[in-house]
Amino acid sequence: MTSNVHALETIKRPQTTSDRPGEAEVKAAFRTIIRWTGDDPNRNGLIETPARMVRAFQEFFVGYGQNPTEILQKTFEEIEGYDEMIALRGIRFESHCEHHMAPIIGQAWVAYVPSGRVVGISKLARVVEAYAKRLQIQEKMTAQIANTINDVLKPQGVGVIIKASHHCMSTRGVHKSGADLVTSRMLGCFRDDPLTRQAFLSMAV
Ligand SMILES: [Zn+2]
Repeated sequence: MTSNVHALETIKRPQTTSDRPGEAEVKAAFRTIIRWTGDDPNRNGLIETPARMVRAFQEFFVGYGQNPTEILQKTFEEIEGYDEMIALRGIRFESHCEHHMAPIIGQAWVAYVPSGRVVGISKLARVVEAYAKRLQIQEKMTAQIANTINDVLKPQGVGVIIKASHHCMSTRGVHKSGADLVTSRMLGCFRDDPLTRQAFLSMAV
């Protein structure tokens, strides 16, 4: 039993500084990839590319350093009993699929019905961002956003809809551009009350 518990902790434990490769190691890896494509990493146009890729990847995956639970900590309770839906629509995001590291470009609709307290609206966008800037699959990202808002704010309900195009499908593989994937997660009154659910869905068409 103890070994099982330990295995779980090993998976969940965030990467420590000691097993995180340094910048030089990552640059070398990018040089290897360039060589593997058939090009020469030493030619003029490519010499700075590994360093640029390091900076770009730091941006792509900045979400690992952000804590969505912390983002939602500060709430406001002077809301005069406001208990209707709060929806932030069309939050654009860029993510990367965990299967190909290809871009996922899309929009998120995030809504909740508060239960005595609300959060600053920009914080909803920051939660989307914190999960998007990681290696993702859209289904998981949709659930993570909804679950976090639900766990931290404890509202009457949460709804999240994501529509996104996946470059691993448009620029490679089946090469189907123009298709987007729609996912949703409804919790609390968004799941149980058909009117709330419908009101939210109609905002995201
Ligand atoms: Zn993919």
